[in-house]
Amino acid sequence: MSEVPVQRSGLNILVVDDDEDDYLITRQICNRIQEVKINVEWAPGYDPALEQISAGEYDVILIDYRLGASTGIELLREITPHTDVPCILLTGQGGREVDLEAMESGATDYLAKTELSPVVLERTLRYALERKRAEERLNRLALYDTLTGLANRSLFRDRLDRELSRATRFGHSIALMFIDLDGFKTVNDTLGHDVGDELIKVAANRLSACTRQIDTVARLGGDEFVIILAGLEDTHEAIPVAERILVSLSRPFHFGGQDVQVTGSIGITFYPDDSNDADVLIKNADMAMYSAKANGRNGFELYRTEMAIKAARQLDLQRSLRHALDRNEFVLHYQPQIDVTSGKVCGVEALLRWQRPSGELIAPGDFMPVLEEMHLINDVGDWVVKDACKQFRSWWAAKVPVPRISVNVSRAQLRRRGFVVTLKECLAETGMDPTCLSLELTESALIADDVLADTMLREITALGATIALDDFGTGYSSLACLRDFPIAALKIDRAFVKGLPDSTADAALATTIVAMAQAMGLRVIAEGVETKEQAEFLAARGCNLQQGFLFSRAVPPDQFVEECKRRGVTDGPI
Ligand code: C2E
Ligand code: CA
Ligand code: CA
Repeated sequence: MSEVPVQRSGLNILVVDDDEDDYLITRQICNRIQEVKINVEWAPGYDPALEQISAGEYDVILIDYRLGASTGIELLREITPHTDVPCILLTGQGGREVDLEAMESGATDYLAKTELSPVVLERTLRYALERKRAEERLNRLALYDTLTGLANRSLFRDRLDRELSRATRFGHSIALMFIDLDGFKTVNDTLGHDVGDELIKVAANRLSACTRQIDTVARLGGDEFVIILAGLEDTHEAIPVAERILVSLSRPFHFGGQDVQVTGSIGITFYPDDSNDADVLIKNADMAMYSAKANGRNGFELYRTEMAIKAARQLDLQRSLRHALDRNEFVLHYQPQIDVTSGKVCGVEALLRWQRPSGELIAPGDFMPVLEEMHLINDVGDWVVKDACKQFRSWWAAKVPVPRISVNVSRAQLRRRGFVVTLKECLAETGMDPTCLSLELTESALIADDVLADTMLREITALGATIALDDFGTGYSSLACLRDFPIAALKIDRAFVKGLPDSTADAALATTIVAMAQAMGLRVIAEGVETKEQAEFLAARGCNLQQGFLFSRAVPPDQFVEECKRRGVTDGPI
């Protein structure tokens, strides 16, 4: 057993003994303990003991087995459920049975009176205190977050239940707030976990400083905190607290000479307005917090019923998406790309659609992010490549020689080596000319200096396929991507085409992008061309390859074949 620093200021001991002589002997022994000063008080029986224990503050209670008409065991049974103070039973005779009974009745330890000596007593006291402390430490571990000292999840749940029953009794409201730090992951990833931990600690202190003593601030894990604002007369009282928290969190944090800034997103729900049920309140606050994040962060949102409806729809979406691939619910639609000098089809972009059993056709914007979250994007992405290549091959077999097919590839696919394998298989199985395959990637899928992406792209181009940079100009690193990666084509984003030809800024940008692409020997395709004026403006600048509703929307394969027959196709890829 490790050395316990037995109280510097002295130990307060209560001796419960109905025999004054015995008490005096015990006191004498206590006073002969060298290592620590001991203050001894006496309770001459069962009833005085009960009174003194509830009134006084003792470090240890020594209880004699014989207490007149009662026994020490009875006293132990009475007091141990209500006190944390270690109790030691002094046994006379009776041996093992009494010892066992003592432990079962909640005594910390037992000691034969006949063996009582300063040394033995000192050791027993030390042991009792150590046990007590270990227990407290365990309790703390089980109830408090070790990093911040805040209540942990289980204590939070306890407190919430308690506050809910108090609020019911007194007719008060409660606000439950979920708080998540925005940008915490970036701090952790870029500055390291030590800085991340420091930041969590400081944030915890700031949250505590924004609340009252009676409120509970807890850490649920990671950068997630929760606050229970109890005893509210009016739910509006929660708003200034949320505002204070936002201001307080957004103050820079100083760590080793550098300033780090994060913000918070807060979701708030109220008892009894939103629910009486602890679990429902927790879900509500969580949903409201996500909504605050989605609405641009650094803000708070009050829970609204629509959030539950939206969350239910999201859940339904997730459930159905999980089976969509197995049930063949995905389809590809095809949007022609036109060479405006001849008006012929020079290529086609495959665009994914989800055909729900209800007949509803869902656009990728509504389900791609969910696929990504559910880690299904790779399976679906592989399917897209396979199906597009198969389709391409069957057009050729049917004497519709579409010059090129473009397939969109997401960032997740480019992070997986298996993608190149899938690609190779597709090319081998269909026997299509690899140079007819263009993979469209956005800048966000390509981050400059990304070695893995670079390796993947080089393997892909080694197969003969080409890479097009999609949504060109909308990201932060368009030019760096052009410099760093083997890119063959640019797609001018719809955002720049939209304002043509009237917007001078769009006109200047579109003109510059075309000129730059030409100077670099890159193919350039304009997206989202909706009017004749846009088409003419772009063609006059040398951008002949165009795609947009002016020519055709993305349509099912049969309709696309009609389009090819009507317009004709160019002689090979341009
Ligand atoms: P994107 O690659 O930029 O595709 C062009 C989007 O613009 C398509 O939307 C298309 O229908 C739409 N569009 C085409 N012409 C016009 C026009 O003249 N005006 C307007 N307003 N819109 C036009 P869609 O099909 O909803 O696809 C949205 C995005 O979803 C795509 O943007 C692409 O990033 C992604 N996506 C689509 N299919 C796939 C896929 O198979 N795999 C991956 N990873 N992403 C895909
Ligand atoms: Ca695209
Ligand atoms: Ca695009």
